[in-house]
Amino acid sequence: MRLILLGPPGAGKGTQAGHLVARYGLIQLSTGDMLRAAVSAGTPIGQQAQDIMARGALVPDDIVVSIVGERIEQPDARDGFILDGFPRTVPQAQALDRLLTEHGQALDAVIELRVDEAALVRRIESRIAETQARGEPLRDDDSPEVLRRRLAAYREQTAPLIAYYRRRGMLRSVDGMAPIGDVAAEIKRILASEAGKAASAPRRSRRPAKRPGKSPRVTVVGKKAKGRATAGLRHNTGARRKLRPRRTTARRTVARKPKA
Ligand code: AMP
Repeated sequence: MRLILLGPPGAGKGTQAGHLVARYGLIQLSTGDMLRAAVSAGTPIGQQAQDIMARGALVPDDIVVSIVGERIEQPDARDGFILDGFPRTVPQAQALDRLLTEHGQALDAVIELRVDEAALVRRIESRIAETQARGEPLRDDDSPEVLRRRLAAYREQTAPLIAYYRRRGMLRSVDGMAPIGDVAAEIKRILASEAGKAASAPRRSRRPAKRPGKSPRVTVVGKKAKGRATAGLRHNTGARRKLRPRRTTARRTVARKPKA
């Protein structure tokens, strides 16, 4: 399952992602967490992102897209993930579409947490007060003033994604102001209904997109690799394990002639 949780800062995306991780065993990919880790580690990306994040602005698209692109290639992300805080701009959403297509993957749902901005500011203010009362350090961007800037960035750059995903018929909205358990239950209901639809729909191809202008690369296994006609051909995709013949005697990679 591949999901996007969409909503302004403080809407509860991280909390709901945590519930989904526990329930479905998915991994949570939070670009905010990845960027904060880069800042703490003092990597070149972290150094570039630090001031931008502290101001409450968005880190450039190419940086976050490259972080996400690398992350979703890792083995633990192969079977699914929850994107929390990504995409945040239309170019990021378009880049995500390209990345998923290249991997022969698709999104299952985009869940928007709808919230009231004034209530969000109050929520963040009480979170700051609670964190301080516990004697824990605050995040650089944990201030009402920075929150207002982050909300402005959300309205200008991220809110257009609601129309982007609605046009694709993927958007599902949830009342993010409801109690946490009710929000989690509503998301669970949405996912169950999406899973039901997917089960009754004709199977979509999970093959990666064809490389423009190039013949598909295939690996020849078995006897054909030695010049015999009874060999198995298989595409270089994740489906390879299923199609693997019982005994592989030799292999070589060739360019298959495109069909006339
Ligand atoms: P978050 O923890 O998701 O609230 O993100 C914290 C900060 O990290 C944001 O205010 C941005 O400065 C930066 N950030 C996180 N995700 C993205 C993204 N997808 N695009 C640009 N900046 C991001």
